[in-house]
Amino acid sequence: DDAIKDYERNHPRSLSIHKDALRFLPGGNTRSVLHTDPFPICMDRGEGNRLVDVDGREYLDLIGEMTAGLCGHSHPIIQETIISTVTKKGLNLGATTAIESQFAQEICDRFPSIEHLRFCNSGTEANLYAISVARQATGLSKVIVFSGGYHGGVLTFFHGVSANTIDKEDWIIGKYNDVEGTRKLICDNKGKVAAVLVEGMQGAGGCIPGCPEFLHTVQTTANENGMVFILDEVMTSRLDHGGLQSRVLSPEDHTSLKPDITTLGKYIAGGMTIGAFGGRKDLLAVYDPRPVSMPGKTQRLVSPISHSGTFNNNTLAMSVGLTTLSTIYTLQVCTKLNAMGDKFRQSLLEICRDTRMAVTGVGAVCNIHFVSQRLSEDIRCVEDLEEMQTEFDAILKDLFWFHAIRRGFWIARRGMLALILGTTESELEEFLEFAKEF
Ligand code: PLP
Repeated sequence: DDAIKDYERNHPRSLSIHKDALRFLPGGNTRSVLHTDPFPICMDRGEGNRLVDVDGREYLDLIGEMTAGLCGHSHPIIQETIISTVTKKGLNLGATTAIESQFAQEICDRFPSIEHLRFCNSGTEANLYAISVARQATGLSKVIVFSGGYHGGVLTFFHGVSANTIDKEDWIIGKYNDVEGTRKLICDNKGKVAAVLVEGMQGAGGCIPGCPEFLHTVQTTANENGMVFILDEVMTSRLDHGGLQSRVLSPEDHTSLKPDITTLGKYIAGGMTIGAFGGRKDLLAVYDPRPVSMPGKTQRLVSPISHSGTFNNNTLAMSVGLTTLSTIYTLQVCTKLNAMGDKFRQSLLEICRDTRMAVTGVGAVCNIHFVSQRLSEDIRCVEDLEEMQTEFDAILKDLFWFHAIRRGFWIARRGMLALILGTTESELEEFLEFAKEF
């Protein structure tokens, strides 16, 4: 009761906006993940790595749009790009533009496994398209995904969008980081499965990194059994200049991952709406509409599968994307931010020792957990987390989040943090102090 009174005193405008929003939007918002009940908070603006709510309270933004806001709010170079694009080019020209292929080249240069790619409007779309490519290429329909993953049952991809698009019986769910179980699952389903879709680190599932042996086993076994290996890098591609795939080295021959198709989204267009999927040229050829005239073959005038989307190559997303990758999130900046994240996570691990807190993650993206069993290294899949978490831990997680917000740290309710450009060591120190006190 005291907390509610305290909230009402400090957030009158947020509360009033929330009450109005409830009249038009289910739950008062448009994204399940942004639910802040019982203390609804409505933001007014973002400035650099700060957010300011409608009641004038300031927050250090430690989640950056669930990793998409990597560049910070209204980065000056992005502002310039937006203004010059709008004034000199226009928003969406309904035609191919040079900037689109320049942006595509920038992506291909960064991710050696991507030979050809296509743009779309979100990470969700990118995954759906990647699956379509795999189905077309293999003539098969089933897809192996992993529990705890964005696609594996806990979150929107499976329950929301895809559940409406792909038959439920077409999903086969494996256990993340289970090397032998996954090898068997893939082999047992040879001839039925079009693709194995996996994240290099399960983001929404709690920032649980895939171990190299697991990810390389998925890749090799999928390939050996005629399945397309799709790596979802929508969240993780920011963790290394060449994506997380370049950082996960095979324990056997030290090569990096080489997905057949990689899906991208979030930060790659500097905060504009974006998705992209790309990989092997022969697979992406299903979108090539040029007629093929070979002796004995029927000419085809359209691509085997269609790829529509009014805003797929809109000028704004293409220009800001190109600027983001070529001039803002350069190799040096990427390396520095993720090194800062690794150091920050190490400090959190120190704080967690001998407490009910644990932390998992890679580079500048991590998740704080509350668990009855203490070792962060023990968390290898969502089943481990479920086993370790009591009802009390769930309450602690929410309390940690409420206190963080109250102290001016904007983090995800699930305990996730994603550092954004412009964040300083001393700002992170402040958060570490808070975590220690908690
Ligand atoms: N894939 C992963 C791993 C994600 O974390 C997300 C979103 O959080 C998506 C796909 C979907 O991306 P979008 O929200 O752009 O549809």
